Amino acid sequence: MPGYQRHNFHNMKVGSILFLIISFDPYSWYFIAGYLFATFLCGCDLDTRGDMQNNWGILRYYWGLYSKIFVHGKGKKKSKLIDGVDVKRGPSHWILVGTLTRLLFLIPFIAFAFIYNSVVAFKGIEISYVIYLFQSSFYNYETLYFIGGMVVADGLHIILDKQE
Ligand SMILES: [Zn+2]
Repeated sequence: MPGYQRHNFHNMKVGSILFLIISFDPYSWYFIAGYLFATFLCGCDLDTRGDMQNNWGILRYYWGLYSKIFVHGKGKKKSKLIDGVDVKRGPSHWILVGTLTRLLFLIPFIAFAFIYNSVVAFKGIEISYVIYLFQSSFYNYETLYFIGGMVVADGLHIILDKQE
């Protein structure tokens, strides 16, 4: 159960190697962006008040809601205590499930960005344009690579949590 700094250190180490391997790929930057996003801002440990939540500044209160739902450690009944610390993790630390539920939590921000873009384009909210932007933004390689990078970073985090 390494702390924030050690998680970042390991993620950066593995991330650098991964980037060297996939740098030939034209979409590799999206993968790396997703990887960094999950490492520093939107990773598994958003389920606890700490450095990752603080990285969001004032928006950390929004993630307070996330950590209320996805509790870091599952409470006394199912807990696995090592040195008095509950090391068993909930769904925030399940591969894919954790990443996808955090993406669901980002929907208000994503929706705001699309509506804002629509306002800029039409000087008003054009719903059909918002929907068009939304669809064209998700059915593409860029988004897939970005989410892929997040899943890999979260996967590494989960493996490291189990190691120590
Ligand atoms: Zn963790």
